[in-house]
Amino acid sequence: LTFLGLESSCDDTAAAVVRVSDTGREVLASVVSGQTELHAPFGGVVPEIAARAHAEKLDLCVEEALAKAGLALSDLDGIAVTAGPGLIGGVMSGVMCAKGLAAGSGLPLIGVNHLAGHALTPRLTDGLDYPYLMLLVSGGHCQFLIASGPENFTRLGGTIDDAPGEAFDKVAKLLALPQPGGPSVEAEARKGDPRAIALPRPLLDRPGCDMSFSGLKTAVLRARDQIIAEHGGLPKARRADLCAAFQASVSDVLAEKSRRALREYLTQAPAHPALAVAGGVAANKAIRGALETVCAEMSVAFLAPPLALCTDNAAMIAYAGIERYQGGGRDGMDLVARPRWPLDQNARALLGSGK
Ligand code: ATP
Ligand code: FE
Repeated sequence: LTFLGLESSCDDTAAAVVRVSDTGREVLASVVSGQTELHAPFGGVVPEIAARAHAEKLDLCVEEALAKAGLALSDLDGIAVTAGPGLIGGVMSGVMCAKGLAAGSGLPLIGVNHLAGHALTPRLTDGLDYPYLMLLVSGGHCQFLIASGPENFTRLGGTIDDAPGEAFDKVAKLLALPQPGGPSVEAEARKGDPRAIALPRPLLDRPGCDMSFSGLKTAVLRARDQIIAEHGGLPKARRADLCAAFQASVSDVLAEKSRRALREYLTQAPAHPALAVAGGVAANKAIRGALETVCAEMSVAFLAPPLALCTDNAAMIAYAGIERYQGGGRDGMDLVARPRWPLDQNARALLGSGK
C-alpha cells in the first residue's frame, strides 16, 4: 500500500509518501516546510499567518513529495491527512487539500489524529510490536500512552500545565539564550554543574504519571533574579549552572515518571516490552540517557526514531493512515477538522496534554 500523507496542524507544512509492503515499511519521500521565519517577528505562532501559509504551501509540498517518490497520484492507494488536534485554520487547510485530491483522483480519504501519527512512528521506523509504551515529549505535548492498536491508546498521565519543550523555550528566553530553547539550553548545560543550584522536582512526591513543568520555569526565574541581585548581573558560569540544574530536573522527572509508567505497562506482560519516545525534546542527550538507563534497569527496549521523524512530519501521518485503512477505517467528504481530539477517548479530554 502506498499513501500520500499531509500535515499542517502547527507551524510545519508537510507532505510525504510512504509504502508498506510484505518486505517492510519505506518512506519514499518526506517534505517538510517550516514557517519559523514567518512567525519570528511575533514571538510565537500566529494562527492566521500559519493557516494562510499552509494553504499556499500544501500543493507545492504534495508536488515535491510525489516528484521525489517518482509517483503520480494514480500510483497511490490512499490519501491520509491530519484532521486534528491542532490550530484549526491549519488543520482545515490540510483537510480541504486532501479532500480535493481525493475527489479528483477517486482515492480513499483517511483522517488521522496527529498524536496517533507521533505514537505510531516507532512502528514505521522499527516495526515495533503492540503493545508498547510511548512517551510523547515535544513543544506542545507531554504524555505517556500505551499503544495497543492504531486507534487503541491508553493514556497513563501527562503534564498538567506546560510541555517540557515549552519550558526549555521559556527558560532560554529568561536566560537570553537563542530560540528554540532546547538545543541552546542543552549546549549551556554541558558547561555547568547541575548540583550548583537546587531546583524542585515537581510532582515526584505524588503518585502516578502526571507531570508539571511550569513551576520549574518559575523556580529558574527566581534563581536567576537571586543571582542577579548577588552579582549585579548573570555571570556566564552561573547561567550554565542554571541550565544544567534545569535540565537535570526535567530529566529526573521524566525518568522517574517513565519508571512508574513502565511498571504499569509491564503488568500487561507485553511479549516485547519497549519504551519509545517521540517529539523534539527526545533530541536532548541528557534526557535520552536518563530514559535509556531506566529502560536498561527494567529490561525494556528503548527506541528513539531519527529526529526528522520525531518532530512534525507527514510520513508519520501517511503511515498512521495506512494502519487505519488496513483496519477498515475510511472517511468521506464530511471529514471535519478537530481542534481538540484526545487519543484516549476515556481519558479526561485534554486535561494535562499541554497546549
Ligand atoms: P507539537 O509537535 O507537540 O505540536 P512542536 O512542534 O513545538 O509541538 P517539536 O517540533 O516536536 O514540537 O519539538 C520542538 C520542541 O522541542 C521545542 O520546544 C524545542 O525547544 C524542543 N527541543 C528541541 N531540541 C531539544 C533539545 N536538544 N533539548 C530539549 N528540548 C529540545
Ligand atoms: Fe507534533
